Amino acid sequence: MSERRPLIAGNWKMYKTCSEAVDTIAKLKELVNGVSAVDIMIAPPFTALSQVAETVTGSNIQVGAQNLSWHDEGAFTGEISGPMIVSTGCSHVIIGHSERRQYFNETDASVNQRIVAAIRHKLVPVFCVGETEAEREADATFSVLDKQVTDGLQGIALEDLADLVIAYEPVWAIGTGLTATTEQAQEVHQYLRGQLEKAYGSDFAQSIRILYGGSVKPANIAELMSMPDVDGALVGGASLDAKTFSQIVKF
Ligand code: PEP
Repeated sequence: MSERRPLIAGNWKMYKTCSEAVDTIAKLKELVNGVSAVDIMIAPPFTALSQVAETVTGSNIQVGAQNLSWHDEGAFTGEISGPMIVSTGCSHVIIGHSERRQYFNETDASVNQRIVAAIRHKLVPVFCVGETEAEREADATFSVLDKQVTDGLQGIALEDLADLVIAYEPVWAIGTGLTATTEQAQEVHQYLRGQLEKAYGSDFAQSIRILYGGSVKPANIAELMSMPDVDGALVGGASLDAKTFSQIVKF
C-alpha cells in the first residue's frame, strides 16, 4: 500500500474568461470543502491566475499555471516567467503538455529548461509525458517515454526533484473520449516508476506521484485510482464543470 497522497489536478486549457473562472472556482471551493484525503489543483489560463488564487486562499485547492518561460524576465513578448506566476499566488505549473509539444514546438530540451526554471522558483512542476497513437502501435511507448523523462530531467539534481509530479498522458487519450484501460495505465506507471528507481533510487521512485491523464471522468476515476501506481489524475475537459470535477475529486 503506497503512502503517496493522491493529487487530482484540473487543466482548464484555453477556456474561461476571468469572470467565468472565478465563478467556477467559487463553486468548486464549496463542493470540495472538507475534502482532506487528496490534494486538489486547478490550472486556469494565465489571465485568471491571480483572481482564482485569491478566491481559493485558505481552502484546500491549489493553483497552477499551464506553462512558464525559462527566462526570469526580458524582451520576450508574450512570455510569462516563473516570478510572474509566483506573484499571482500560484504553486504549481504544468510543463510539457502534449498540446504544447504538438502545436507549439515544445521539445524535450525546452521542457527541461522549463522544469529547471520551475524548480528555481519553487513551483511544483507537473511534467507531462506520453506517446502518440502511432508510437504505441509501433511498440515504441516505453522508448518514447524513456527519452521524454531522461531528456526532460537531464542535469537536474535529485534533491531538486523532491516536489516533482509526473503526468502520464497518452496523446491518443487526451480529449478523445478514449481512456487507457486500467491495465494500460498501470503498466506504464509501473514502468516509469521502475525507470525512475534505476535513475534516482528507490526512495525517490516510491515517493514520486505519477498522475494519469486522458479523458478521466467521474465514471472511470475510481477504477484508475485502484491501480497501485496511479497516484492521481490530470483532468482536462471534465475539470471545466465544478460539479463534475468535484465528483472526480471525491472518487
Ligand atoms: C489534459 O488536458 O491534460 C487532458 C488529459 O485532457 P482530457 O481530460 O480532456 O482528455
